[in-house]
Amino acid sequence: MGIEEAAPSGFLLTSIETFAGLARKASMWPVTFGLACCAIEMMATGGSRFDISRFGMEVFRASPRQADLMIVAGRVSQKMAPVVRQVYDQMAEPKWVLSMGVCASSGGMFNNYAIVQGVDHVVPVDIYLPGCPPRPEMLLNAILELQQQVKTAPLGKDRAEIAREVETAALRA
Ligand code: SF4
Repeated sequence: MGIEEAAPSGFLLTSIETFAGLARKASMWPVTFGLACCAIEMMATGGSRFDISRFGMEVFRASPRQADLMIVAGRVSQKMAPVVRQVYDQMAEPKWVLSMGVCASSGGMFNNYAIVQGVDHVVPVDIYLPGCPPRPEMLLNAILELQQQVKTAPLGKDRAEIAREVETAALRA
């Protein structure tokens, strides 16, 4: 009997998807990217005390082409916004964005013309982390939450496709 008859329908694809999800979540590589004071806490997270390498991401990549996680650590100025977008565009799919701190997420106390009022105006955000600044433990917790999303992300679909499906499901509901 062939595997097609022995295994339930979709078994093989589901298994590959599960395996790929586990592998992806366990080897995310953040792009080196700090914008303001929150970046100090991000750097502390990479140090030996908090040891981000326990979660498969000891290497912060200097090239966006080798990274799949952007941690937006700090306020985003209007002048910096196109650079943020360019770095994001240079990252290969699949990729994820973590907005670290109140400034990156909503502009925070910088409610003025010079600061983008939330980095989600520039790039799609997968997870928001509140705080000013969030402590390294909070960043680690947000990364663990994000890893759960990564683990269950479907194979072979890019972010735009997934967003379209979510939107369609929401319209049908
Ligand atoms: Fe700085 Fe606080 Fe804004 Fe982070 S949230 S960039 S620590 S002011």
